[in-house]
Amino acid sequence: MKIWLDGGLQDSESARVSVFDHGLTVGDGIFETVKTVDGRPFALTRHLDRLARSARGLGLPEPDLDEVRRACAAVLEANPMPLGRLRITFTGGHGPLGSDRGEHGPTLVVALGGTPRRPDSTAVITVPWTRNERGALTGLKTTSYAENVVALARAREQGASEALFGNTVGRLCEGTGSNVFVVLDGEIHTPPVASGCLAGITRALAVKWTGATETDLPMDVLQRADEVFLTSTLRDVQAVHRVDERELPGTPGPVTAKAMRIFDEHAAADLDP
Ligand code: PLP
Repeated sequence: MKIWLDGGLQDSESARVSVFDHGLTVGDGIFETVKTVDGRPFALTRHLDRLARSARGLGLPEPDLDEVRRACAAVLEANPMPLGRLRITFTGGHGPLGSDRGEHGPTLVVALGGTPRRPDSTAVITVPWTRNERGALTGLKTTSYAENVVALARAREQGASEALFGNTVGRLCEGTGSNVFVVLDGEIHTPPVASGCLAGITRALAVKWTGATETDLPMDVLQRADEVFLTSTLRDVQAVHRVDERELPGTPGPVTAKAMRIFDEHAAADLDP
């Protein structure tokens, strides 16, 4: 596997970043996961915009987006794959222990992985931990994912593939790596970005293409919604057939099935929507 590091392609086996890279030691890094179809990235411009926003939010140097584009193209060309995921990681770089930030410029790594086929529907759990809708990192796609790792492990223990968080005022927020939508009386709703969720790219496209409304939702909406679905780069639109103990028979319901169809049609027609 060829990856991009230090301005060029390298073998993933021998590529090395410093053990003092601040992305590793203090989580001072940001990332994007981009779906690729037949060697072409989906919604790359939106991902690069968010990468730049996350860098600004974290106070990292501005990533050179032309280099990131070139890196993505080079990695895709070097590793042909029908369906894949580009992982763009950008950190503060390395410096001596105790330094505030890397002293050797930022680190950019672009790598490619496969995407396991995801089922059309999945089970989710809710977790008691909260997203902070007013935190310094709210809305930034940082590499500080430890809380998500813990929540996802709990989901897996319960036969689910995703864990959903509320925020500090008890509103529904998002999953560890996805946004959440509910259907009430035929209308689609999703929590607003102000709930503390990541401004998911799939979420934005699903809102645009299905006419979903951004609405503050209490956590218990999950116990009465007619349908529930998730969106993310790796899930696209995925129906939910169980929330905690509650089964949702007939999944995907008609509104979710239509949202899945609309999403697939638009996404196939435009790789950089
Ligand atoms: N929320 C979180 C915390 C995420 O990490 C992700 C994706 O990684 C999402 C939502 C979904 O965002 P996107 O649709 O851009 O993949």
